[in-house]
Amino acid sequence: MDLTHRPRRLRQDRVRGLVSETSLEPADLIAPVFVDATTDERRPIESMPGHDRVPIDGIVDRVEEVLETGVEAIMLFGIPASKDPEGSRAWAEDGVIQEALRRITSETDAYVITDVCLCEYTDHGHCGPLEEELRSEDVVDADGPACEPTMTVDNDATLEALEKIVTSHARAGADMVAPSGMMDGMVGAIRSALDEAGFEHVPIMSYAAKYESAFYGPFRDAADGAPSFGNRRHYQMDPANSREAMREVRLDDEQGADVMMVKPALPYLDIVSAVRREFDHPVAAYNVSGEYAMLHAAAEKGWLDLEAVGLESLLSIKRAGADLILTYFAEDVAKRL
Ligand SMILES: [Zn+2]
Repeated sequence: MDLTHRPRRLRQDRVRGLVSETSLEPADLIAPVFVDATTDERRPIESMPGHDRVPIDGIVDRVEEVLETGVEAIMLFGIPASKDPEGSRAWAEDGVIQEALRRITSETDAYVITDVCLCEYTDHGHCGPLEEELRSEDVVDADGPACEPTMTVDNDATLEALEKIVTSHARAGADMVAPSGMMDGMVGAIRSALDEAGFEHVPIMSYAAKYESAFYGPFRDAADGAPSFGNRRHYQMDPANSREAMREVRLDDEQGADVMMVKPALPYLDIVSAVRREFDHPVAAYNVSGEYAMLHAAAEKGWLDLEAVGLESLLSIKRAGADLILTYFAEDVAKRL
């Protein structure tokens, strides 16, 4: 038997590390952190074991816990004291994110990225103020509308709100802003608003290809962000589409996004990989709450080894082409690296 090619030669213990193609560092990871203006004490998030909603007074301690693991960056999500149809607490100078940012940036060295959206701040839970959507059948049917007009998010009114949010975040000390609402033109609007306010140095990580995914379920417990009616498919992407993702990323590129994010991660590794190939920006992938919760649930039943599958998940996301990974596993994995 002539077996010149034996790939097993390089799988021996002492050489595996030398030929490993992908490595994971704590510096690749971003830990999502939830700050909650409605509570005085830490509240565990049931569907996301190990994660809490923390009060503003506890945010510095929470961020220090993250930093101790070697993870240097956090993504900050806020739960406001009150909600209204416009989501006005999102840009309040004394808003939950703004208060938390001032404390984190003055007391820690964390690199703080803020999620920029309205869904946690509007009383209806959508990612911007609403307008009636006029559908074509409403116009052409002489006997009257075929069905009731539906409500959808008012894109351009939302852009004005996003401009106010990012400038208030930057003033409070945000290192980077991450618009997640999938509004058309959001990156351009935010870039101009930041530049005009003197924050040319603040980068934008765009949730460029964000899918309307059922894997976000547990996050909605965490951030009180479930829409009170309907769903988000009028603005988030159809899971069936990949060419459209390239178009979304290209638009964000043209508008000045610095980092391109794909969300979720594991069911969309083909998209992560395609964005890596087609664009020269750093690529971020969001390993979302459902991807985290399902592994925990299986591990609780004794069906999976949690440490192993958590690490393997992140490694696969990195291998697909992500430079940065947002993940609820950040601290657990970083501790072991
Ligand atoms: Zn949103």
